Amino acid sequence: MHSLMYPIILQLLPAFVLFYIGIEIYMRNPASKQHSLAMVLFAALSLLYVGDFLVAVLPLNVVSQAFYYIKYPAVFLTIAIGIYFFQAISQYSLRRYWQVLIGTPPLLLMILVLIRPKWIVISILFDGNWREEHFNAPFAMILLAIVVYCFFWIFFFLYAAYKRMKDFQVIIKERKRIRFIFQGCLITLIYLVITIAMNIVASFLNISIYFSLPSLCVLIWAVTIRYAMVKYDFLASAGRRYELLYDLSPNGIVLIDDQIKVIDTNVSFLKQFCGRQEPVGMVFTELFTEGEQERFLEVYGHSYSMLQPFQFETEICCENSDKHYILMNGDHLEIEGQVITLLVLQDMTAQKRNEERLSQLAYRDELTGLDNRRLFREKLHRELEASEIKLDKLAILLIDLDQFKWINDTLGHSAGDHLLEQVARRLEEGLLVDGVVARLGGDEFAVMLPHIAKEEEVGQYAAKLQKSFERPFLIYGTSYKVTVSIGISMAPYDGHDVETLLRNADTAMYVAKKRGRNQYYWFTQQFKTQADQHLKLANGLSHALAADELTLYYQPQIDIQSNKVYGVEALVRWNSAELGAVSPAVFIPIAEETGAILPIGAWVLRTAMKQAKKWTEEGFKDLVVSVNISAHQLIEPEFAHYVADFMQEYGLDARHLCLEITESAAISDLETSYKVCTELVELGVKLAIDDFGVGHSSLSMLNKFPFQFIKLDRSLVQDIATSSRDYAIIRTVIELSGHLGMQVVAEGVETREQAELLRTLNCPEAQGYLYGRPMPLEQITAYLRSHT
Ligand code: C2E
Ligand code: CA
Ligand code: CA
Repeated sequence: MHSLMYPIILQLLPAFVLFYIGIEIYMRNPASKQHSLAMVLFAALSLLYVGDFLVAVLPLNVVSQAFYYIKYPAVFLTIAIGIYFFQAISQYSLRRYWQVLIGTPPLLLMILVLIRPKWIVISILFDGNWREEHFNAPFAMILLAIVVYCFFWIFFFLYAAYKRMKDFQVIIKERKRIRFIFQGCLITLIYLVITIAMNIVASFLNISIYFSLPSLCVLIWAVTIRYAMVKYDFLASAGRRYELLYDLSPNGIVLIDDQIKVIDTNVSFLKQFCGRQEPVGMVFTELFTEGEQERFLEVYGHSYSMLQPFQFETEICCENSDKHYILMNGDHLEIEGQVITLLVLQDMTAQKRNEERLSQLAYRDELTGLDNRRLFREKLHRELEASEIKLDKLAILLIDLDQFKWINDTLGHSAGDHLLEQVARRLEEGLLVDGVVARLGGDEFAVMLPHIAKEEEVGQYAAKLQKSFERPFLIYGTSYKVTVSIGISMAPYDGHDVETLLRNADTAMYVAKKRGRNQYYWFTQQFKTQADQHLKLANGLSHALAADELTLYYQPQIDIQSNKVYGVEALVRWNSAELGAVSPAVFIPIAEETGAILPIGAWVLRTAMKQAKKWTEEGFKDLVVSVNISAHQLIEPEFAHYVADFMQEYGLDARHLCLEITESAAISDLETSYKVCTELVELGVKLAIDDFGVGHSSLSMLNKFPFQFIKLDRSLVQDIATSSRDYAIIRTVIELSGHLGMQVVAEGVETREQAELLRTLNCPEAQGYLYGRPMPLEQITAYLRSHT
């Protein structure tokens, strides 16, 4: 029995190695045709060695069987597969008959040896160490021819692949790979030539060497291919490009099978959506919320049944509970009878957040986080369209803070902001279902209440809302009470569209403000008429001065004891081209609201002073002209300077000027008005407190402010004969004025009786229809002439 060592090392071991390599390459990419082909090739090579091993170890009488039935069929089969393999990796496309043809010669030879014709003789020799094969000349020629044939195709295909790469600028890695294989094949060839030559020489010299040395060339060749397959990866270039995309894509890519189980994912997917969890094997829809799972299955199922691409947008929850908005594109591929779905997941979270942020900016009030005017209008519009179909009622409440300006002005803007934020929260507190709160701007808020069954609901809500403001607001540690004025309009009664409803609610809110604040008003048609009138007046006033529609009337003021005129009060008149004569009692408040009072007041002052100067020049040496001053003028810090400038301009002595101020005007900004008043008195201008006896009428005001005249209000004077209370008040004021060194002017004296009573009370001065109505310039000048 000869030693088994050589056959095991030289034949059995390579067989195993080759078989192992074949499996390894196959496992690397079972789906690839090239990898499968490579496995078959290596299996055949392995078989070849098994054949050699059997030749070495079988009893001599059966060895020849192994030649014919195992080893040489394996050789030819390997050659056939090898040729096809090289064609596959070169991607050289052959016509079908060429494809058949190139494999035919080795396969024919395979059949030939299996048939065992007489002229093929393979015999065995034993030389002590190993058994030696000997073929007869024809078979040696066949072998040589087929090896040449095989190498011809190998180099042909490699050359073709190399050339194709040059033409198409395929990536360097691919070119290196082909070059590597080429070199391997070349070495194999050289090895083969050398070993065959050695065999020939040895047989001539009758030296014993290992006869199967050439067949070991297969090992070199196999290692080359394995190396190329594993290191350079043997995918076709399209496949390689796909693989690169798969790895480099910033989008997550997932492959799922028809059970929706994850087969594979790329790195991006792991990084973006998985955290530490291993996704392979898990059911893909687990990433979604329950509702979304169903939606996905529907979209997926539909697309699957048609084998068509699909798109799906959803939100997924990751392990770290981060939410991701994703846009998913999917398509299906059929691989070996199984449908695989490839999903590309684009993370839209950042984009979505940006969109949200933008809409936040466009639709949200930044300070309070409430809807802004724009969004409120949109929602209202939508709701109105819906309610029109359902014949639903809908209410709008416009809410304005009563004290905001004061807080903002005295405590500063950040305190104001702070208040607005708290107000926003409070408005949200008691909101009805489906209600919407918005900040329309400044301190103006709005609430929309859709689906109102009864109007009482709205009234109750408004009352509750108002009540909720009874709780004070805490601003920088101090409590402040804030009240609200609310205007309510309702669809469909007060309008069908956004514009009208908001305008009408605004009108009602304005009325609530006007009539004392801290209350709610429903819109009524009457308000609308008033509001329209108001708007007309405000518009008209803005150009009344320029249109020269204003004039001054003068009403005489009488010294009761002597019945002589001591002064006149200038009263403005507006004869509007559009609206006719408008009473100052109507338009002055509006002018105060719109700010038109400032130019108008200045004009009155100048005109009256100019006229006063004229009268003094005409000989009315002691005449005093009284001018009404509104709060807005009085709180102008420079007001006394203007007056001084005017006096200088017209050359008017200050003692001819008296300025009438109402108490409320003085109170609006005590500090400034006090300063202005003292400056005026220092100039020598007289001051009168107007409408005394109405409103607050605090005596302390009389004490503090440097008034020379107290004008008793018309309402008191009117009832002097009938009301003992009013009589008592007048008497007290007159007595008091004596102590304070002031003079009383009784306003609105209409009857002799009133005049007589005033005279008995020692009231020094009076003004009223009894003595004369306010009259235009010529008339008053005539009056003055006849009464001094
Ligand atoms: P006022 O300052 O109290 O002016 C007196 C008002 O009483 C005037 O009304 C006058 O026409 C009216 N009146 C005078 N005597 C009698 C009378 O015996 N019986 C009745 N029933 N009424 C009498 P007028 O001119 O309509 O002015 C109304 C108010 O408009 C004024 O009240 C004053 O507050 C304001 N006003 C008028 N002109 C000006 C002005 O130039 N500037 C400012 N700021 N306010 C003005
Ligand atoms: Ca007056
Ligand atoms: Ca008055």
